[in-house]
Amino acid sequence: MAQNNDLSTVELPFSAILLDMDGVLFHGMNPIDGAIEFMQSIENIPHAFVTNNPIKLPKSMADKMAEIGFKRPDEKLIITSGEATAAWLAKQKPNFKYYAIGAGGLHKSLQKQGHEDKENADYVIVGEGEGIDYASITTGINLMIKQDAQLICTNPDTSVDAFYRGKRAILAGAGALVAPFIVATGKQPITIGKPKPLLYEIALQTLQTEANNCLMIGDRPDTDIIGAQQLGIQTALVRTGRFRPDEKLPDQMPKPDWDVENLAQLTKHLLCLSNA
Ligand SMILES: [Mg+2]
Repeated sequence: MAQNNDLSTVELPFSAILLDMDGVLFHGMNPIDGAIEFMQSIENIPHAFVTNNPIKLPKSMADKMAEIGFKRPDEKLIITSGEATAAWLAKQKPNFKYYAIGAGGLHKSLQKQGHEDKENADYVIVGEGEGIDYASITTGINLMIKQDAQLICTNPDTSVDAFYRGKRAILAGAGALVAPFIVATGKQPITIGKPKPLLYEIALQTLQTEANNCLMIGDRPDTDIIGAQQLGIQTALVRTGRFRPDEKLPDQMPKPDWDVENLAQLTKHLLCLSNA
């Protein structure tokens, strides 16, 4: 049964696929059931990964996928909010000066495009992971108030389902960690990750395709699905991350084109569609 699931051999209403990662392909170091097979089935369809997770560099994400059983993706196809933040800032102001708060991957992404400068930063950048504390909040709000540094938030997620010190846990996302800076200064951040269009736009450019030729697969209606819909990208929601199959979506959330339990069910739907 698993032999001919190559989706590139069937007629589909899209010619490229964008995928979220956490909650779609894996949880921590565990691949989600059917995800490895799904990636094999789309091996011959142009695809890219768009993740709001700014903690890891694309290389680390690709290494992790290989480590847990996926074919190692080309790291150029992995668009993280950390990389997108650095690229966007470099466009606004080449050689920008920044003060960043968040895990190692974000710092590495920023170092490639700008210069860390705690005294004269143009931007105060808040990402995810450990690093925020009383001292870093103080440095950040002083830069914002006294030097008019612009607040940047890598991604709007208020919480993240992840692993922390070996245990599954709900962690504060960048959208929560940025709150002290907003409250203390009364200033709003510029936010980079999904549902904002930048990650999708970088992915579309990378694949050299148009929004209406694409399918986005994600587990969060409030970021993955709504962001893609706003650009005219078709959408599939998998119930392997933020929502379980039996959970009702809150009323105000956008309806995806496909609402499926998992990637295996999505494959079945797509195969049926092509036989219809
Ligand atoms: Mg996700």
